[in-house]
Formats: sequence, structure tokens, C-alpha cells
Amino acid sequence: MMRDAFSQRKDRLKVFQAARERLLRRPAPDRDDLRNINCPLCGGRILMADLRAALYVCPACGQTLPMPAHARLENLLDPGTMKERQEGLKTTNPLAFPGYSDKLDRARRQSGLNDSVVTATGRIDGLAVAIACMDSRFMMGSMGVVCGEKLVSLIEHATKRKLPLVIVATSGGARMQEGILSLMQMARTSQALNHFHAAGLLYIVVLTDPTTGGVMASFASLADITLAEPGALIGFAGPRVIQQTVGGDLPEGFQRAAAQLENGFIDAIVPREDLRRELQFYLTIHRKEGRL
Ligand SMILES: [Zn+2]
Repeated sequence: MMRDAFSQRKDRLKVFQAARERLLRRPAPDRDDLRNINCPLCGGRILMADLRAALYVCPACGQTLPMPAHARLENLLDPGTMKERQEGLKTTNPLAFPGYSDKLDRARRQSGLNDSVVTATGRIDGLAVAIACMDSRFMMGSMGVVCGEKLVSLIEHATKRKLPLVIVATSGGARMQEGILSLMQMARTSQALNHFHAAGLLYIVVLTDPTTGGVMASFASLADITLAEPGALIGFAGPRVIQQTVGGDLPEGFQRAAAQLENGFIDAIVPREDLRRELQFYLTIHRKEGRL
């Protein structure tokens, strides 16, 4: 009798203990989730947690807002399959450009990244891919030596392993603080893609807002399939520069995704929530065996 009472009490204690452990294990609410930001288009206040859940598309007006590289990878790749490459590679200040080191420190702190691109391998619906996502929070997604090097290394890896390649681009262009060294990355990425294409492999680029300058003029315009997000600004020189040069008004929607689709520059506009499915479709019909 006494023994029963003891073991009942012991069981109850176990239940309490398990519940307490569950509570302790639950992650504390992310302070960032409780932050509000204003949509740049409609001005509406959006809770960060809601914005994340909506894949960084404004719930009020539908505007596609910039998406952090890791959130993008998490959205596109099968859970638990992402293997990031060269995440520790850090830019120095190769030309001793005044103020550049401070700018890099600030960009690292604000974005939590070491440079403007995250490269990885992983799977989309079970299909192995090499993937790169640029992040506009790091110096407008500009391309310097580290960004170029990470992309070239990823493209070479994909060529060697016969993997399809997906690049989600966003960039203001080459990084001026690295001068000619950053312009060289246009040639390096293009050359690496030449070998990749010669091996008969598939390259899909997703142009997001904005993709301009030296990135647009190199690897972002060399894909087999060119997709864009709704409303993305896509071009070499921006509309302001062109307007100043031609000295006249530009048509509405100039260099936006819809106009670029109409002009045959891109193949399709894909809303963010459909992107994973769309990539999965292209990867399936172009399927080749590859290893990660
Ligand atoms: Zn909005």
C-alpha cells in the first residue's frame, strides 16, 4: 500500500519534471520577432514575426521586400539538407580604401554575415543542388573579391559534381571599394560558368529587387533559365543614370520585371511563395545524376 503511494507519487513527479523540461527547452521569444517595421510601399506597420511567416512579402499590399539569404535558403531547401560553404571567408581592405574597413565591420554586425553572398549545397524536393543567395543587407549585395571567390568555388564544385546551379541574385553591382579587383570577379564568375555550361549542366538564376551593375552584367545574365521576382528592378545602369543620360522621361515600369519579361530579357516572373515549386519543376525535367 505504502509502496503504491510512493510509486504513484514518483510517476506524478516524472510527469511534472517532463513538463518543466519541455518549458525550459522552448526557445525564448526572439526579441527581433516583436519588432515592427514599416513597408516601404504602403507604409503599413508589420510585425517581424508576421513578415517572416509571409516570406518577407508585405501582408497588407503584397510588395516583395528584401529577404535575408539564410531565410531564403531555409525556404528553398529541404529541412536539414543545407551545407553552407566557406562561411568564414572574410573580406579585407585590399586597396586600403578609406573608411572601407569600418563599413565592413558595420555590415557584418548588421547582417550577421561575413560577405554579401551565402553559398551552399542542399536538396530541393530530394534533388541535389548547388545554391547561392545574395543578401542586400551586406553593402547592397555588392560583389567584391570574397563574393566572387565564393561563387567561383561553388560553380567549380557544381561542375565537378555535376550539380545543377541556382543563384538568387540581388546586387547594386561591383563593390567600388575593391576597384579593379571587384571588376575582375565579373570575368572570373563568367569564365567559371563557361566551363559549367560546357559540361552540359543547368543554371537557373532568380533576379530579385534590385539586380543591377556588374552582377547583372556577368553571372546574373548567363543562366539557362532566368526567373525574376515581381516588381524587381533589373538592369545595368539604374533608371536615374539613364534618365540623366538620355535627358528625357522613361516609360512607367522601366527596367521592372514586367517590362523585362515583355522585352524577352527574362523567362518568367515567379511570386516568392511559388519559387520552390517552380525550381523543383525545372530541376526535375532537367534531372541529371549528381552527388553533393
Ligand atoms: Zn505594404
